[in-house]
Amino acid sequence: MTKIYEKAPAKINLLLDVLRKREDGFHEVEMVMTMVDLADRLEMEELPGDRIVLSSQAGFIPLDEKNLAFQAARLIKERYGVSRGVYIHLDKRIPVAAGLAGGSSDAAAALRGLNRLWGLGLSQQELESLGAELGSDVPFCIRGGTAVARGRGEVLESIPAPPQCWVILAKPPINVSTADVYGKLRASELKNHPSLSDMLSAIRSESFTEMCDSLGNVLETVTLDRYPEVRQIKDCMAKLGADGVLMSGSGPTVFGLVSKEAKVPRIYNGLRGFCKEVYVVRLLT
Ligand code: ATP
Repeated sequence: MTKIYEKAPAKINLLLDVLRKREDGFHEVEMVMTMVDLADRLEMEELPGDRIVLSSQAGFIPLDEKNLAFQAARLIKERYGVSRGVYIHLDKRIPVAAGLAGGSSDAAAALRGLNRLWGLGLSQQELESLGAELGSDVPFCIRGGTAVARGRGEVLESIPAPPQCWVILAKPPINVSTADVYGKLRASELKNHPSLSDMLSAIRSESFTEMCDSLGNVLETVTLDRYPEVRQIKDCMAKLGADGVLMSGSGPTVFGLVSKEAKVPRIYNGLRGFCKEVYVVRLLT
């Protein structure tokens, strides 16, 4: 039977700003998102009958309709009237509830993969629209690359890749709920907003230093106050010599950008002293 594979890379936010809370309860955001080469891997194959069956080696994620990959399979199956079964194995590498959009990327990979497996011929635009029904970060995860995301995060404008560098990810052993962080954010009281135009000009002029200077995430105002361990990791990465340091998404993962490879081992080893989950990756450019 045909078996297909899809990679589901993690994303980081180089910039995350919240402009206001909307009448529909969502927040109007402005984000710069890019992919890194830490990825889950999905294996999909036809199954006799009409069921969606999900498995994973990770013991701590739901494998039923609560899983975003399952929801993606159900959505595309129902929308396009596919009466075939599928078995999806999820090889989970991206830390869960970490601010790295692992679940969204799995959903995106499931949509891309099932489009191929079932020969549906859907365009990227159609897949992105389907993805938006599953979550605000899913359309970006379908498109990949680097993009400015507006609206709830689903209105995308692709931009050039940022200057290549090393990315050190450190996740403290706490799980942070994105809904919780947005719920606690007082958008109208935010005093400092990161500058999207500075970030865009840094990326367009391929200036690594300016990119590091333009990093910003307003959700840090909530997460750093609530979880001192996240602040500790930020401070530690900066002291160890990372060129730019920021929390990704709603956290708790912190990433450090580093241009010189020679600096990486010192930062990695310094962090590993008190944080178990540390990854050294590259931008997916
Ligand atoms: P984001 O950055 O988009 O807010 P995140 O990286 O913070 O996402 P996820 O790893 O996507 O968070 O997980 C958030 C929650 O979603 C977890 O509590 C988990 O139980 C649930 N979940 C559903 N599907 C998946 C999946 N395929 N992989 C991981 N978690 C999933």
